[in-house]
Parts: sequence; C-alpha cells; structure tokens
Amino acid sequence: MKGFTTKALHTYYKPNGEDGAIIPPLHLTTTFKFGNKSAYDYSRSGNPTRKILEKTIAALDGNKYGLAFSSGSTVLATVTHLVEGGEAILFSTDAYSGTYRYIVNVAGKQGLRYRSIDLTDLHIVEKTLKEIKTKLIWVETPTNPLLKVADIKRLSILADKYRVLLVVDNTFATPIVQQPAELGADIVVYSTTKYMNGHSDSIGGALTTSNNDLFIRLKFLQNAIGAIMSPFDSWLTLRGLRTLELRMNRHVENAVKVAAFLDKHPKIKKVYYPGLFTGEQGRIVRSQMKAPGAMMSIEIKDKYDVQKFLKKLEFFPLAKSLGGVESLIDHPASMTHASIPKAEREKIGLSDGLLRVSVGIENSADLIADLKQALSVL
Ligand SMILES: *Cc1c(COP(=O)(O)O)cnc(C)c1O
Repeated sequence: MKGFTTKALHTYYKPNGEDGAIIPPLHLTTTFKFGNKSAYDYSRSGNPTRKILEKTIAALDGNKYGLAFSSGSTVLATVTHLVEGGEAILFSTDAYSGTYRYIVNVAGKQGLRYRSIDLTDLHIVEKTLKEIKTKLIWVETPTNPLLKVADIKRLSILADKYRVLLVVDNTFATPIVQQPAELGADIVVYSTTKYMNGHSDSIGGALTTSNNDLFIRLKFLQNAIGAIMSPFDSWLTLRGLRTLELRMNRHVENAVKVAAFLDKHPKIKKVYYPGLFTGEQGRIVRSQMKAPGAMMSIEIKDKYDVQKFLKKLEFFPLAKSLGGVESLIDHPASMTHASIPKAEREKIGLSDGLLRVSVGIENSADLIADLKQALSVL
C-alpha cells in the first residue's frame, strides 16, 4: 500500500498530454458542455477540482468514496438526513459544541430523535441501543476539549450487533494518526477547516465511506442539500493535504514536548493530553492512535489569573479553531463552548479555568519559552 504523502500527491489526477499541468487546475466553471466525456453537468452535482479532493481524502482514509462539503457543520447536517422514520441519533455528552447545537436546537426541533450519552462507557451505549431504535452513532474521538477517547473498534462491534451506522469524526486525529475505517467505522467525517487544510484559510468539511449504498444516498443528499465545498476551497484543501503527513509529524513532536513541560509545571493543575493518559483511556489511545495528536487542554491552578496568563502569551493568540500551522489557545467557557449551558458544561468537567491549546509547527523551544514566561508572571 502506498504511503500517505504519495497518496496525497498522486491520487486520481494525472498531468495530461494536452497542457501537462503538474498541479490540478482550479475549475471555477458552474456548468459544463453537454455530452462531455466525464459526464459533468453542473458544479453543485460535481466539479473536477472537488472530485480530486474527494478521491484524495477517501484514499487517505483507506475508503472508496469521498464527498466534500462547505464546512464540517454541513457534513453533520447532511449525514443526519440518513436518519428517518423516528429513529434516533446517539452522540457524546462532550461533543463539539456545534454538534450539540445542530442536533438539539435545529434537527431536534424538526423532530429528529437524539440521545446524548457517554460514548466511552460501552455499557451505557448498549443499554441505550436496547432502549431506543437507533440509526447512527456519531462519535468524536478524541473529544473537544477534554480529549477523551472512545474505543472505535468496540463501538463498531456494538453498532454491527444492533444494525446501527457508526460515524467517526476524525477531525482531531486526521488519517495520519487514526484510521477509523480500519477499526470498523461506516463513515469517517472531517472539518477540513482544521488539520486537513491546515493553514487556517479555508472552511470546509468532508466524509468518506466504502459502503456503496451509503455513498449513493449521501451523494444524492450532497446534491439535494447543496452544501458543497467550493472549487477554490477544494483547491486550497488539496494543497494543504500535500503536507498533511509532514505537518502532523511536527505537530505531534511539538505537542509531546509542550505537554511534558506543562505537566511538570508547578502552576498547572492538570494537562489533558492523550499522550499522558493512563488506565483504560491510555489503553484505547495506544490501541487505536498511532500518535497522541497535537491538541491538549490545561487547567491552571485556581489561585492564578487565567486572563493575565493569556495576555502575556506571544505565540498563542486567543482564538477559536485549531489545527493550523500556527499555535492557538482557546478559552472554551467563554468562546467555543459558550453555547453549552454553564450547568451542562460543569457536569462534563469543563471548568471556567480550562484552556485548550492547539500546538502549531513553530520551533518547540520558542513555544515552551513563551509558555514559561507567561506562567512566570502569575
Ligand atoms: C470545527 C469542528 C467541527 C465543525 O466544523 P466547521 O468546519 O467549523 O463547520 C466539527 N467537529 C469538530 C471535531 C471540529 O473541531
């Protein structure tokens, strides 16, 4: 089997004899002359630049088919249309805030049945599957922002037993770190906004699958709903993917060092990083992730002023999003997870002092020196 970067560079597109362009062209056309060889007719239904991206992401996941969307959120919105006839969707209590917002406040209001449960507890999962007729399980692993990991393989065994689809959001891990299809996921989904594009300059999403019937239905939904990735964003994301493996290796190398530094620091109460997990969570990390990723959350000891620390940082701007080449820091309680009610937030262990760190590809010594000086003023 070919390596990740070879696949990222050489899937589907081949420079042709006519113009020989090494890099795939950006096809900005909305429509196509009737009767063309590739049977393109309208860019919502299919676009050559998007198609190269779709094939490439599928190849990286080891799946047959891929579809690209205008955002990670519209992937969820499209996939929930697979749920019909009073069946339910299960998702995690500490899901991405937009997952919660869409399922509870949009689809739920239109009648979609849902249950939010702890997907790391397989007894609860099985009990729920027995109680409520379920169409799909939507699992994000590692989760945002506490980096909890769910056992994809065991979830897929349960999903098969109850004839339920397993959808894995692989945004935090990427295909480099985790291969959900190999572990039994029916559909793998991404916000390509994050590591996949990796340069914080394009909002997008994608899904991949090897199930032919599912793909036909999802492609129908992609066209019917129309939340497609634009040709330009497809082109940018393809460019980003060419360095995905190189970037992830560096992200992980830096994150391991940053986590080790923070974990030992006397002003830090706790570091949530898959690389530091022990017990059952550690076992899952080692069994299904090739590396611990580059996302972590930290809690500064209660007596210190979090805002003061944030203001002192030079290389960690306070911003939403993650997975770009540059490091970012986020304060979930006031930013990314503000849409989750405070009482709910506390129930899932998301304190007001928690900070989420996306470790970039800067030189690790500079990142550590920056964190050190910002902690020293507290
Ligand atoms: C960002 C994110 C999303 C949503 O993606 P958008 O591209 O922002 O719509 C979904 N899942 C996870 C895990 C994310 O990090």
